[in-house]
Amino acid sequence: MKTRLCRLFFEIEQNGQAKRYSLAPLSAEEIGAGFVAGFKVTNRSEEPQPVYLVRVRENGVMYCTCPAFLWEQRKGQEPAAPQPQPDAMCKHCEALAACGAVTRNMLDVLKARTKLLDAAEQRIEQLTKNRDIEREAACRNADSLRRTIADLEGRLHEVTQRALQLQTSLSAAQAVTPKRRTRKVAA
Ligand SMILES: [Zn+2]
Repeated sequence: MKTRLCRLFFEIEQNGQAKRYSLAPLSAEEIGAGFVAGFKVTNRSEEPQPVYLVRVRENGVMYCTCPAFLWEQRKGQEPAAPQPQPDAMCKHCEALAACGAVTRNMLDVLKARTKLLDAAEQRIEQLTKNRDIEREAACRNADSLRRTIADLEGRLHEVTQRALQLQTSLSAAQAVTPKRRTRKVAA
């Protein structure tokens, strides 16, 4: 394949003024851990040209490095913010979604998968907790059984000792008892 130069641009119109942006793909390092897709967006209508990374998180939520997005995000994280808070957005995220560079379908699929994974994780956590509770109960039962057996063994030992003592005393008593002699009957 011949080496070709491709350029991707989009425009954002705001207050009757159009700003032109160029899109560039991100390298694996630029996408970074926890993100699955994204673009480097450069504002070509300003000088110096601001550059933002607009990326999609693994959970299907978009993320931009522009100040407006970071402000939106901070607002959503404030303690008084109502839950659930809508995803933070900025004109760059909205533009990429609107022009199809990032498809809504991909975001929806990622969000649905994340929900399923979260549910599965919760279920596993619950099952692990239940198993631990059952194991603890089994251990408690085994402990109480072991104590009962030890107790019974102790009592059995005592009884055996007493039986032996009785046996010894009995033998001793039998040894000292004078034997009755049978009198010879006078003929
Ligand atoms: Zn932005």
